[in-house]
Amino acid sequence: MSNEVWVVADLKLDGSIRKVTFEALSEARRKLVGKIGGNLCGVLLGSGVSNLAPELGKYGAEKVYVVDNELLKDSNPDGYTKALADLIKKYEPYIVIAGNTNLAEDYLPRVAGRVQAGLTMDSIDLDLTDDNRLKIQRYSHSSKVISTQEFLDHKPMMTTVRPNSFKPEEDQKDPEIVNESVDFNSEDIWTNVVEIKAKKSDLPPLTEADRVVSGGRGLGSEENFKYIYELAEAFDAAPGATRAAVDAGYCPYDMQVGQTGKAVSPNLYVAVAISGAIQHFSGMGSSKVIVAINKDPDAPIFKKCDYGICGDLFELLPPLTDEVKKLLQD
Ligand SMILES: Cc1cc2nc3c(=O)[nH]c(=O)nc-3n(C[C@H](O)[C@H](O)[C@H](O)COP(=O)(O)OP(=O)(O)OC[C@H]3O[C@@H](n4cnc5c(N)ncnc54)[C@H](O)[C@@H]3O)c2cc1C
Repeated sequence: MSNEVWVVADLKLDGSIRKVTFEALSEARRKLVGKIGGNLCGVLLGSGVSNLAPELGKYGAEKVYVVDNELLKDSNPDGYTKALADLIKKYEPYIVIAGNTNLAEDYLPRVAGRVQAGLTMDSIDLDLTDDNRLKIQRYSHSSKVISTQEFLDHKPMMTTVRPNSFKPEEDQKDPEIVNESVDFNSEDIWTNVVEIKAKKSDLPPLTEADRVVSGGRGLGSEENFKYIYELAEAFDAAPGATRAAVDAGYCPYDMQVGQTGKAVSPNLYVAVAISGAIQHFSGMGSSKVIVAINKDPDAPIFKKCDYGICGDLFELLPPLTDEVKKLLQD
């Protein structure tokens, strides 16, 4: 069993590394590696990914394990499962971390099953117990509570981390590259990605955005959602929505924040005409600053926000958007 802490890189559609990987590397270095006297390592899985290793070194990876294989193209979860499980069995790391992305939610539980490891998802804090077992915090019960969970003394200890929970911090290293080949056979890959169609959007992805502006049922129509898009653009924020707004057809499902939508953790969350139901709060309650705009002074959201503006969105949003534009873009 080694003392290595692994961070598995999450890749975007364009093949670049997601910010959450740098956040995880930085927090693992600050909180875990020194205390257990171990090494910080990156893991790169994919097709044509070898050239990305130096980027992990920029955030402190001293070693990078690379599995570069055509079968891992398009983030095939079957391939990722086999590749990571084989690497773990061979090198026996102490801790394995990945970003809490859709892909990780798909393949990491399968890896944990194969290597018989404990796994917690969506951590917002990483730490160690006095005897150096991984201890994490995560939201539970619709974000009403923060749960602290520690691993038993059984390695590896595996977790995913929520994007935007930790500060990325450079720590330049020249990592040793360990190229690994994995023997895939016909029983390893059960699904095949036939096609990937990228949606055209200049907006930042919701789960990684530093700022989010969301609209609720109070917007009243798809046309009125332009107020949300305009304010989001002024803030350089990602637009989001409640389930009620999505169900009413005002905007697409991929904008939904909440229990049955996406979990976000931006520095700023602006909730416009949103009542503040617990199912919505569970997806955005960890935002650093929450601003609510609602015409009902008794709306529950006002008990959960940092700043509340009571008024009609149709009167408030146009001048607010203009002011934000002036402040941030002029
Ligand atoms: C199993 C389950 C899962 C769910 N998952 C989710 C989820 O993932 N995400 C989610 O969001 N919800 C989810 N819901 C639904 C959730 O319970 C709420 O119904 C929903 O969040 C309410 O959305 P809303 O705040 O937009 O609408 P409402 O509760 O109808 O609130 C609209 C608000 O707009 C305000 N308003 C109206 N007009 C104006 C105006 N002109 N100016 C200012 N304010 C105005 C009103 O005062 C009101 O507070 C789920 C529910 C269940 C049962």
